Amino acid sequence: MIKERHPMDYRFEYLTSEQLKPYIEQKSLLVMGIGTIEEHGAHLPTGTDLFITQRFMDDFAAYLEAHSSVPFLTLPAIWTGYSAVEMQRWPGTIRMKTRTVMDMMREIIGSLCEMGFDKILLLNGHGHHTELLRVVAREVADDHGVYPAVVNFLYLGTKEYNAVRKGTAGGSIHGGEDETSVMLHYGYPVDAARYTDADHVTYHTDFVAGDNFIGSTRVFWSTWNYHPSRTGLLGDPIPSSPETGRALIEACVRHLADFAEEYWRRR
Ligand SMILES: [Zn+2]
Repeated sequence: MIKERHPMDYRFEYLTSEQLKPYIEQKSLLVMGIGTIEEHGAHLPTGTDLFITQRFMDDFAAYLEAHSSVPFLTLPAIWTGYSAVEMQRWPGTIRMKTRTVMDMMREIIGSLCEMGFDKILLLNGHGHHTELLRVVAREVADDHGVYPAVVNFLYLGTKEYNAVRKGTAGGSIHGGEDETSVMLHYGYPVDAARYTDADHVTYHTDFVAGDNFIGSTRVFWSTWNYHPSRTGLLGDPIPSSPETGRALIEACVRHLADFAEEYWRRR
């Protein structure tokens, strides 16, 4: 185990080819993230998913470095991907085809496999990517015999988030209390004067939760269809606070570190 590293020492892109070799020999965990640039209503910047993903990766890497003996490296968060065409009703979304995103991810991860890495932890910060990344994980397994793990990292802290959230079911989806609180916690510009509850989701059934943290979703049916957005949001940012964002992120970091240990050791 290489100890007392500066953050630049565990960022893949700062290392030389020679410096990567011991990490490959140790079968180090490769931590990759993908966010996107997409409209997030009137109060959040378009880079919300990218910012949250990168900052979360930084926190996670620092935590692993301090609390775990798992050897790891990180790659920079990817800033673009797939969003539904629906999002173009509001300016700010850069969207690639589903297949383009899947091919890009398959080829990035494939390159890592060719180098000899065999534990890839893929952190997803954008809901529209969930299904695509799971397919990529299966393709990489077929191509290389390497099984990436895909994690929608913000939901690891569901229990802790629900213990502190102030809003009700339907408030935490896209640009709602969860993402807004995390952006406040990280200190990004959030325009509280533009908060609105116009898109607080009110549709909740036995089959679709209508919230990312409360209820259970037993079928795939896009929230964007069963609760059409008026403002580009889905949810309600009004009850957001930096304290809520901090509680959520800290829980996610801890739980993900536990999983990283499990995933890396199981061979
Ligand atoms: Zn988002």
